[in-house]
Amino acid sequence: MSGPHRSVPKGRGELRDQPRGGGGRATARHDTPAGALGGHLAAAESDRIVYDLAGIEHRYDALLEELPGIDVRFALKACPVDEVLRCLVERGAGFDAASPAEIVQALRAGVELHRVHYGNTVKSDRDIAEAHRLGVRTFATDSVQDVTAIAEHAPGARVFCRLATSGEGALWGLNRKFGCSPEDAVRILGTARACGLTPAGLSVHVGSQQMTGEAWQQALDTLAEVLVTLDGLGIVPDHVNLGGGLPALGYLDRHGTPLDPPLDKIFTVVREGMDRLNGLTAAPLRFVVEPGRHLVADHGAVRAHVYRLTERAQPDGTHARWLYLSVGKFNGLYEMDQVRHRLVFPAQADEAEETYVPAVVAGPTCDSDDAYGEGRYPARVPRSLASGDPVWILSAGAYATSYTTQGFNGIRPLPCVCARGPGRTPLT
Ligand SMILES: *Cc1c(COP(=O)(O)O)cnc(C)c1O
Repeated sequence: MSGPHRSVPKGRGELRDQPRGGGGRATARHDTPAGALGGHLAAAESDRIVYDLAGIEHRYDALLEELPGIDVRFALKACPVDEVLRCLVERGAGFDAASPAEIVQALRAGVELHRVHYGNTVKSDRDIAEAHRLGVRTFATDSVQDVTAIAEHAPGARVFCRLATSGEGALWGLNRKFGCSPEDAVRILGTARACGLTPAGLSVHVGSQQMTGEAWQQALDTLAEVLVTLDGLGIVPDHVNLGGGLPALGYLDRHGTPLDPPLDKIFTVVREGMDRLNGLTAAPLRFVVEPGRHLVADHGAVRAHVYRLTERAQPDGTHARWLYLSVGKFNGLYEMDQVRHRLVFPAQADEAEETYVPAVVAGPTCDSDDAYGEGRYPARVPRSLASGDPVWILSAGAYATSYTTQGFNGIRPLPCVCARGPGRTPLT
């Protein structure tokens, strides 16, 4: 498993070991991402988001090594970039699509239809009919209303029922909006069978950037309970979908401390759970995962630039520095509500020469939510930063392109570059 990249290219000064829990100190690292990313970021003369396809493939292969034989259905919304999707298809991945438009994009990437499911429990009659017309035959559901609509607009389809989870332990819990109780799941799959659908499976999503093995343990316990009840009714699902939630490895938390997800433990819990569930059913179960951020977050980085480092008196009389960047919440870093990204300041490579100062970091828009680090946990940034200096924002590959606004303050979405080689030739 590749952890957060820590290699330092020659001539970039020493890697300074950042203390853990250092209240934002980790934002001033001078380490550079390995592989294609470092070269492409260094060569970039304007803002962009860069994806390292080889890195994504490597993470995909590592996932399959941890969970042998599992069917990967990449959640498109985490990175709806054609080249990334194509590279995953070549590896054997399918897709968790959430709308007819995502199904069309998945098919454009060359995926076989049977490797695409409609994984959104929220859909209109028209969406269901359109997905069916496009050839999709497997649908997520979590209500009797939705499952009867599937029976009408996608007759004979396969359905899997999403069980609610608590969302505890995740940075973004997906509880409340999605999933049903074990009792409802039994009722819904019974209804599916009665209306001519195939009750094909069960699913969960333990919440995005799930940081605990316990959450998977609980979800697997619930799955076991429902499988046993279904078995008693003669309903035998052919698969279990463990959803998304596998963590990215390179984030910092809201206070700037590196997050350290227990990935090995999570995989152990999932492997043991899969064995246990398989022992409960008459026919062997297939297992599916729907990773999103785990595959792409650490293999995408943003090249942004400094607008200005300012110093102003705050209403309480104290002085605060603000570092304004060209990229923020509305053009790539939407998730700054829960995570921070490592920042690299390549023009200030000589750390011995630099003075670091605490600063709030903010994006370019006229929205005050477009900022992080106010209060007790500022970021640490080089004092010599000047307008136009490049800034690299690491582990920014998940949800960056999808959570981007269009024309907010006239700011255009970042151009996207997919890299594979070392990338030493300047791109403009
Ligand atoms: C978004 C989503 C995923 C991916 O979630 P991650 O936390 O990024 O892994 C998987 N499944 C479904 C149904 C989703 O909506």
